[in-house]
Amino acid sequence: MYKKLFIPGPTHVRDEILQAQAAPMLGHRAKEYSDLQKEVIPKLQQLLYTQQRVYLYASSSSGVMEGSVRQASTKRVLNTVCGAFSKRWHQMTVANGTPCDKLEVEMGQAITPELVDEALADDDYDVITVVLNETSTGLTNPVKEIAALIHDKYPNVLILVDAVSGMAGIKIEFDAWGLDVCLAGVQKCFALPPGLTVCAVSDRARERALQVENRGYYFAYDVMDKKYEAGQTPATPAISLIQALNKQMDDILAASLEARWARHKEMAAYIQDWARTHFALYSDERYLSPTVTNIHNTRGISVADLNKALGERGAMISNGYGDLKEKCFRIAHMGDLTMDDMKWLTAQIEDILGL
Ligand SMILES: *Cc1c(COP(=O)(O)O)cnc(C)c1O
Repeated sequence: MYKKLFIPGPTHVRDEILQAQAAPMLGHRAKEYSDLQKEVIPKLQQLLYTQQRVYLYASSSSGVMEGSVRQASTKRVLNTVCGAFSKRWHQMTVANGTPCDKLEVEMGQAITPELVDEALADDDYDVITVVLNETSTGLTNPVKEIAALIHDKYPNVLILVDAVSGMAGIKIEFDAWGLDVCLAGVQKCFALPPGLTVCAVSDRARERALQVENRGYYFAYDVMDKKYEAGQTPATPAISLIQALNKQMDDILAASLEARWARHKEMAAYIQDWARTHFALYSDERYLSPTVTNIHNTRGISVADLNKALGERGAMISNGYGDLKEKCFRIAHMGDLTMDDMKWLTAQIEDILGL
């Protein structure tokens, strides 16, 4: 049975978006495709408040995380870790043989500018990785403030941001904040089917990559740049997904970006209040995420049973991630979900649990 997804990716996809994928296929070296890519990139630049290049990769986000950290450093990387997804970036850095250290805080805690300052002072780093929105704990790191600190005191450090569960749900001002890489797969806040990743890259990150000898090939910016001006990608792009993305970006911009940020905040505030009333919040209250809430299972309910009962009513939420399984559960309020969806969902949960 079809279930409406309240999980932090993949998220619910509207029928119009599913249908946009069914448009006739285009040749990826034909003018029709170049026109499509040249049409969608400026819309993404608008979404990210940037004039810098935005690449489209046929890959899940993880591929671009690995590809971007691999071509970023000629010295040493500082990986900040505050949960499962930020930890993955550290594992990728290690796996690529790039010298690195991790700055780790407990799950539910944020990476602060003060912690970053202390850690960067320790060694000759030239890259930092940060997750904007840690999906495993429902927490948003103060990336703008971290970036300001880095520009002030460590101007040689590139700022790589995993915005997978934030981009298109949280306002990210790529140029004003001075980010260098900001990436997200489209199956989360963009509310598209999975398989495509959007990645903004600064000119200085592109210049740095040229100095990295083993920067890889598939994700390498200089390889992408060979086709960028022509509105193409070196390998075959995920054409159907890009057609759907173009439609989704039209809808997002027509409804206004500010309305989108506001809707996410409103849904988050509603779910947070509900969680405080019936359970508790897990993460530091100062950094709660606008796109996903991690609820502390203070009643000791069976999350698996709850999800089974929700399934019979046509909905799905997420269990806690990793060690937080059954200790927490997560409700995503991202993508194209609405306040009506949130109210419907909490009413179902209250009914099932007899709250
Ligand atoms: C989902 C997620 C990822 C992994 O994305 P894939 O597209 O599955 O590779 C990475 N980081 C964050 C913060 C995520 O939420």
